[in-house]
Amino acid sequence: IRFEDLGLSQPVLQALDLKGYDTPTPIQQQAIPPVLEGRDLLGIAQTGTGKTAAFMLPSIDRLRESDKQIPFKSCRMLVLAPTRELAVQIAASAKDYGALAGLKVQSIVGGTSVNKDRNKLHRGTDILIATPGRLLDLIDQKAFNLNGVEVLVLDEADQMLDLGFIHALRQINKLVPADRQTLFFSATMPKAIKELVSGYCTNPVQVSV
Ligand code: AMP
Repeated sequence: IRFEDLGLSQPVLQALDLKGYDTPTPIQQQAIPPVLEGRDLLGIAQTGTGKTAAFMLPSIDRLRESDKQIPFKSCRMLVLAPTRELAVQIAASAKDYGALAGLKVQSIVGGTSVNKDRNKLHRGTDILIATPGRLLDLIDQKAFNLNGVEVLVLDEADQMLDLGFIHALRQINKLVPADRQTLFFSATMPKAIKELVSGYCTNPVQVSV
């Protein structure tokens, strides 16, 4: 099976060509078609399986199709990650894949200037990668909102719980539009994660690698 067979658009296929990827990994094969159809996804996968592209590539095509404007002080796709290192890594991938599709990518993480983040986010962005704490700080300050979110990704949800983000995640779930698409990733599925999944996802396609 090739990327061409999964239903991705030309700009995304071109970005993959530039990266030199020719074969989708198992999680990419399983996740990309249902995400393109607009389904919610529960991915049980570790880092190193190619999960970043598994959620980023079809989401980029969902954004291309919906073709909405960048919302003021908001984003169209929100990716939540546990650590700044992971957020920076996801943002780099998102830029590689999103550039040819003309999408604006930004990231905000703890430990940097909040004022800079406020200015940066004022005009909104297509794709935002954030750690939950810093994101809620900006929302509390009315510098950002989640009203524009069409696609929501939780990456390494079990790590986010281990780092004490449960309250932040419950809060964020109340602030995103009810009709957004949710892609939920975790390496493990303890009870607390299952509860979080049932709050965040609607009838998700489950993919396990
Ligand atoms: P991830 O699990 O998303 O952290 O990805 C693990 C590594 O695999 C990253 O360095 C990616 O650049 C790389 N990768 C992802 N998908 C593919 C693919 N289809 N072919 C080759 N390398 C890939």
